[in-house]
Amino acid sequence: MIYLDNNATSRLDERVLDRMLPYLREDYANASSLQHKMGRHANQAIEEARNTIAKVLQTQPKEIFFTSSATESINMVLRGVFERYQSKGKHIITCQTEHKATLTTCEYLEKKGAKVTYLPVNKSGAIDLDELKNRITAQTILVSLMSVNNETGVIHPIKEIAEICQAKDVLFFCDSTQSIGKQAFDLTTYPIDICCLSAHKFHGPKGIGALFVRRKTKPIQIAPLITGGNQEQALRGGTYNVPSIVGMGTAILHTKEVDYTAIRQLRDYFEDRIQHEIEETIVNAQEAHRICNTSNITFRHVRANEIMTKISDIAVSSGSACVSGSRDSSHVLKAMGLTDEDAFCSLRFSLSKYSTAQEIDQTVEALKTAVSTIRQHSPIWQMYKKGLLG
Ligand code: PLP
Repeated sequence: MIYLDNNATSRLDERVLDRMLPYLREDYANASSLQHKMGRHANQAIEEARNTIAKVLQTQPKEIFFTSSATESINMVLRGVFERYQSKGKHIITCQTEHKATLTTCEYLEKKGAKVTYLPVNKSGAIDLDELKNRITAQTILVSLMSVNNETGVIHPIKEIAEICQAKDVLFFCDSTQSIGKQAFDLTTYPIDICCLSAHKFHGPKGIGALFVRRKTKPIQIAPLITGGNQEQALRGGTYNVPSIVGMGTAILHTKEVDYTAIRQLRDYFEDRIQHEIEETIVNAQEAHRICNTSNITFRHVRANEIMTKISDIAVSSGSACVSGSRDSSHVLKAMGLTDEDAFCSLRFSLSKYSTAQEIDQTVEALKTAVSTIRQHSPIWQMYKKGLLG
């Protein structure tokens, strides 16, 4: 298999697995059982991981909270901020191209009385910062915008957004799930109030995430989503997943070694070959500021699902992983103005530190064969070539 679906999830780094194994085998104590040595040892491993994450993000350990995933973190923030701040106001601002974890939770909150503004994007996937400014009112309690779009790789201007929110005294939550391990990301550069991460996106284990909540300079209130013991300053109950927390700490440390330039060069080489060697292909948001590893390409009049069946040894995605089981075309591409037809003919390729030039060459060759075979047998393509279709 050639694996080009790293925005969905990524391969576990061997070094991460090695650090996790002792906590699955012999060091299995409950990290809250501080009465005995084994428990204290597990607790120490958690605090080391927390310190590492805080150091990489350049923040304080007490501002890092462990959760099970980015989805849980997003739910916790949106629901928890709404619960705590709704006496101040019920208005939340987000964007049409956010991940479904955000959009579905916002829809849920609308049923509970929230007023949600879904900012539109232009054809490059960018929001209008003046529109953001104008939409913030005295009732706005939260701005929730992602740093990097999981489908297109488009980067939002997080620093500017954070500064707007700071000036207007509104909380800013950034879904930074697709940033970590793909670009330099620290909380001194970005004055974000809250952000989330998920280890499986940067070669760590699945089912472990974290939330950063700025505590040192702001008394931010979030109601817990999961109540239980007093773990995580009573913000997130439940027995600690020690092996995975250790894995996340190790994985984030290794993100510092990633050569973003090399990944970007490989991605650009891939896009260049596709555009020169397969006619009627469009790299979506190509001119936008994009993360190094992601390429979203429309193969006009060729359905993505058909291509995928012909390149079955190459792992790619026809939409974000969480919606690829559904029959809807991508809400992200449609918000950028693509037609339903073009959105259905688009594939996402997401590279990692493990991707090689040889894999990219093989992928280009496989795509050339697949697309030309499908087009040869496609009446729609023949009509299009004769100028009978738009
Ligand atoms: N936010 C973004 C931008 C994502 O890409 C994803 C996963 O695809 C999530 C949130 C959800 O992450 P998790 O798998 O940790 O729940």
